[in-house]
Amino acid sequence: MTKRVVLIGHPVAHSLSGAMQQAAFDALGIDARYELWDRPPIELAHAVEELRGDDFLGANVTIPHKERVVPMADRLTEEAHATGAVNTLTSEGRKLVGHNTDVDGFKVALDTLVGRQKMPRLAIVLGSGGGARAVVYGLIREGFQRVVVFNRHLHRAEGLVKHFARSAAHMELRAMPWHESIIEAELAKTKVLVNATSIGLDPDESPIPAEILPPDLLVLDLIYARTRLLRDAAAAGCTVDDGKTMLLNQGASAFTLWTGQPAPVEAMAAALSDARDHGVRSAEGEPTGAAAEAGTTGEASPGTGGTGDAGDAGDAGG
Ligand code: NDP
Repeated sequence: MTKRVVLIGHPVAHSLSGAMQQAAFDALGIDARYELWDRPPIELAHAVEELRGDDFLGANVTIPHKERVVPMADRLTEEAHATGAVNTLTSEGRKLVGHNTDVDGFKVALDTLVGRQKMPRLAIVLGSGGGARAVVYGLIREGFQRVVVFNRHLHRAEGLVKHFARSAAHMELRAMPWHESIIEAELAKTKVLVNATSIGLDPDESPIPAEILPPDLLVLDLIYARTRLLRDAAAAGCTVDDGKTMLLNQGASAFTLWTGQPAPVEAMAAALSDARDHGVRSAEGEPTGAAAEAGTTGEASPGTGGTGDAGDAGDAGG
């Protein structure tokens, strides 16, 4: 019987995960099909119930359902519980387990960005949505001592900080208002900058002006493209990487959870690049091929992601 894995989101038509996961099943000769289920919030519970059937290996869950699906799982992993968000479901008999593999994906992206340097301890996160939650939890787990979160709507950043109050009890996790002068002052003190906003999907837009970027920052943009922020940061002398590494590695972790097998990351990376080059756009808001083409020139290393420096910053974009 052909097994099924589905992506539940709204919308999902242009998901990059479809190409990436089907390529992984095909590369290992696994008789499984990755399906895209566009389900509005009102149909989510019914869709999740369907997954309890024998033919399903599990599912991915994406915008706007990652938080809403949490109470529908029978059990949560530590990452899903801590972030309050589920992006992957697996079956245990008729029970469903909720995972958050964005946390794994971010960890690989951070390790790739830092490279052989000592892991820094200070970071700034721009944004407070689902992606930012995985990032902040990853930074807490990595032993960061100070993380400052900026968000357009301050109350959302404050909510995020409150959510992690217990996990972050041993360190300083702060929400600050989105003012350029405050961001500039904090950037001067920090080592890592993560953009977890969707500003940058438009290739001409950056969340912060180029002039306030110090030269020695490590900059990660969760958007899978060579965004304006990454171009400005590379020009300023920063080390940069884009969202491909995180996207690829959250997918690789999910694949292993469904199949019990190591993910064929090279095949997945190739499928991801190919899909994006053909204009496929993820349900999570990665840019269209046209937008991506504006700033992307190369290919990240499969499995480990793109290693960025000022010289090959564009290559991280896939
Ligand atoms: P959400 O919709 O949950 O959050 C969006 C964030 O962007 C919020 O902080 C929002 O601020 C901010 N934002 C949006 N527009 C503006 C604007 N015009 N000015 C200022 N702030 C703005 O999305 P996600 O967290 O799920 O995703 C965020 C980005 O990260 C997306 O581009 C997505 O593609 C990417 N991502 C990539 C992943 C990967 O694997 N590479 C994984 C997850 C996400 P406010 O709260 O004030 O509205």
